[in-house]
Amino acid sequence: MENSLSLTGLSPDDNGKVIVCSAENMVGQDEATLLLNILFPPTIQHLLSPERDHHWCIPFTVTGNPKPVLHWYHENKLLEEQDYIRTMIHESTENEDHGCLQLVNPTHIHNGEYRLVAKNEFGRDEKTVLAQFIDPPNISHPGSFPVYVVVGIAGVALTGCVLMVIILKYGRNSKFGIKGSSSVISNDDDSASPLHHVSNGNNTPSSSEMGPDAVIIGMTKIPVIENPQYFRNSGSMLKSDTFVHHIKRHNIVLKRELGEGAFGKVFLAECYNLVPDQEKIHVAVKTLKEATESGRADFYREAELLTNLQHEHIVTFYGVCVESDPLIMVFEYMKHGDLNKFLRSHGPDAVLMADGQHSILVELTQSQMLHIAQQIAAGMVYLASQHFVHRDLATRNCLVGENLLVKIGDFGMSRDVYSTDYYRVGGHTMLPIRWMPPESIMYRRFTTESDVWSLGVVLWEIFTYGKQPWYQLSNNEVIECITQGRVLQRPRTCPKEVYDLMLGCWQREPYMRLNIKEIHSMLQSLAKASPVYLDILG
Ligand code: AMP
Repeated sequence: MENSLSLTGLSPDDNGKVIVCSAENMVGQDEATLLLNILFPPTIQHLLSPERDHHWCIPFTVTGNPKPVLHWYHENKLLEEQDYIRTMIHESTENEDHGCLQLVNPTHIHNGEYRLVAKNEFGRDEKTVLAQFIDPPNISHPGSFPVYVVVGIAGVALTGCVLMVIILKYGRNSKFGIKGSSSVISNDDDSASPLHHVSNGNNTPSSSEMGPDAVIIGMTKIPVIENPQYFRNSGSMLKSDTFVHHIKRHNIVLKRELGEGAFGKVFLAECYNLVPDQEKIHVAVKTLKEATESGRADFYREAELLTNLQHEHIVTFYGVCVESDPLIMVFEYMKHGDLNKFLRSHGPDAVLMADGQHSILVELTQSQMLHIAQQIAAGMVYLASQHFVHRDLATRNCLVGENLLVKIGDFGMSRDVYSTDYYRVGGHTMLPIRWMPPESIMYRRFTTESDVWSLGVVLWEIFTYGKQPWYQLSNNEVIECITQGRVLQRPRTCPKEVYDLMLGCWQREPYMRLNIKEIHSMLQSLAKASPVYLDILG
């Protein structure tokens, strides 16, 4: 019997929704699912005037399915993208890309009209914007340098000579000897606040410590490790008598896709007969993409591990369903999804992200940020008490529920959606280098102290409304930067006390870092000092 289902009135917003077809008769039941994939032509929602961040950025938002191909024209000439002028996509969902045409140190020759053309097989859209980066220079006649320029050059030359003499005379044995590399990155946006330097201990690894599998990036060797999330410092989490709860397949009804994670797709579902006093509850269901032998083994180990982690700030794990493919893990559903998206959608760029019709977005207050931070720290105190080293603490791995309840929600390492947050080494190992301390980058050393470093980065993410750490730098530059001892700048909205906490997390020597309990109680008292008005976020 062949039947069909007609759907009308669909819009791009329905993309990713799941259609479940269920058939039942007196001998049994079967069902199949289908994901909606609605194709539509590109629309350029916004193309805004250039903004100055660390570089210049012409922000845009484009929708379309399949993903439109983008071309830029400057003064009607096709723009060839290079390292210093290129399209950067900062946020990408199924239907929508938010990004920038990034220009590094543009001059007057880059002024003029910029046209963005977006095309896919269903159509095209274009928008233009005018850019004025720098005023053209005043051309003066040769030989007519103003007097103060000549005086300036002479002054610089003279100072240089005097400095040179001093260095030659005192440099060799002086306490004030000059180091080979500068500890400060030049930052044209805010030269008054250089990046902080944390003292550089002598930590050079011996070749035997490094092991055979290392790649060299810049001046740094990075060890390559397989599936690092399962090399815990302590085996105590994997108890041999762990009882993993099994849930029947027919008790799980998929509703819609929530996202894509380390194992595979994540769905919102209804789960029947899970908790005693409710017939059904909403749950988040994680499916295992490819059930290879080793994939299955990882799946079971993760399930055992999760069964043993129970805390009010760790997402609740309900159990597994392994009756048939795909293998499924069932978690508590956290209404507002991952913390990184949540921060971005409650920050100054939220207007760009909102689609015009939905939600009036409210910017997070400092006390709400402290409340979020304090909860993650509480979760980390618990993990440390269990001798569990997370290795990948980041806002993308935390979840937000009702009333600004935040929990640590993910213990996997590699992710599709946030792939730019990870650095691929030696083929398939992905490392979240932007969250890692020097000793994890250089010697694959992951400890409770390296988690403290990442917690400092998480604080920075919270107070920047979800910016990517070192977003202005490439992965190689980030590695150079961290291993040389540079740390992230104080975010504009961050109180001094909180930045001091971050600096306490980013001490180069792990034993010098703040203790996780100290961090938690400091955040708790800061949060108490500025009470949270939760009702703002409803
Ligand atoms: P993950 O597998 O944890 O990387 O999940 C991928 C995405 O699915 C996340 O970024 C969230 O948006 C969403 N997600 C995962 N777990 C949950 C959950 N328990 N509740 C709500 N959304 C979730």
